[in-house]
Amino acid sequence: MEIRIDRDKCVSGGVCAMFAPQIFDQDDDGVGVVDNTAPPAELAAAVRSVAWRCPGHAISVHEDEPDPPRPVHQDQPDPPRPGTPASARR
Ligand code: SF4
Repeated sequence: MEIRIDRDKCVSGGVCAMFAPQIFDQDDDGVGVVDNTAPPAELAAAVRSVAWRCPGHAISVHEDEPDPPRPVHQDQPDPPRPGTPASARR
């Protein structure tokens, strides 16, 4: 999970720091900052909630890509034996 704050959109209300102080803080100008760039999985829901609540729509959350699916090996039919008539092949 990657969390970003667009400083130009931040309205300095402090919602992020109030609802998820383990992750967010405010700088001296009141602009939201991400204190913890690698939040544990148990705080992921809180991060998403704060991003949704952010009055400036300044917080964006980029989820990690899931692992690609593993290939499924299907049984392949045996190749036709030499000399098999074409009409008998699939
Ligand atoms: S909740 Fe959004 S607008 Fe408010 S301080 Fe945090 S980043 Fe800025």
